[in-house]
Amino acid sequence: MTELLYQTDSYLQEFDANIISVLPEERVIVLDRTAFYPGGGGQPCDLGSLTVTGTVYPVQKVKKQGEDVLHFLGGRRIITYENYASHGILDWARRYRLMRTHSALHVLCGTVFRDYGALVTGGDMEPLKGRMDFEFETMRGELVREIEAAVNREVAQAREIRVKILPRAEAFQIPDLIRTKINLLPEGITQVRTVEIAGLDLQADGGTHVRNTNEVGTIRVVDYKSKGVINKRIYIELESPKGE
Ligand SMILES: [Zn+2]
Repeated sequence: MTELLYQTDSYLQEFDANIISVLPEERVIVLDRTAFYPGGGGQPCDLGSLTVTGTVYPVQKVKKQGEDVLHFLGGRRIITYENYASHGILDWARRYRLMRTHSALHVLCGTVFRDYGALVTGGDMEPLKGRMDFEFETMRGELVREIEAAVNREVAQAREIRVKILPRAEAFQIPDLIRTKINLLPEGITQVRTVEIAGLDLQADGGTHVRNTNEVGTIRVVDYKSKGVINKRIYIELESPKGE
């Protein structure tokens, strides 16, 4: 079982962990704790490196399997490191862009629900780019520009983004969470992690987010598309960090 360090500290860039099991042929390592996000909820997995006894291995893929997080290592050296200590380092530029993008998408869905009552039906992201599908009957250029202006006003409000881990029964009593289909969570889950953008949005969510909407920066709505009678897709992009 891997402790998920990113769930309570999304700003952790480096960490120490012990290797609890190894699949040498697949070049997979399971750690007792990790800051690597294994992907999920539209957010791609982290990349980075893992150092074991002085050898640095690229982490090329990360995946959750049951209670374990699998780290897929590059390189050629045979891996036989059960019970060894290791040090993980995230590709922070990539991860931080994903955090900004993921938070931007929550600003978008919170704003669209508040202003138009439209629910989200799906979404996906890569660093600095994302898309989200809404239950909208019509989407026009004018409406898209209105949405873009509204989300940027929310970003500029410097709203705090708070993460909480709640007992299932408590989470199920929060009306805002019920709207985001929390009732579809599997029976066995005893705790629900919530991400709240103060005064705007509250969701059950496993992803990594920035602390404040002011870290998101300007959001541009770059395109929109009809994906069915009551399904419209909105594409957003974020600015690259300064100096790039
Ligand atoms: Zn999310």
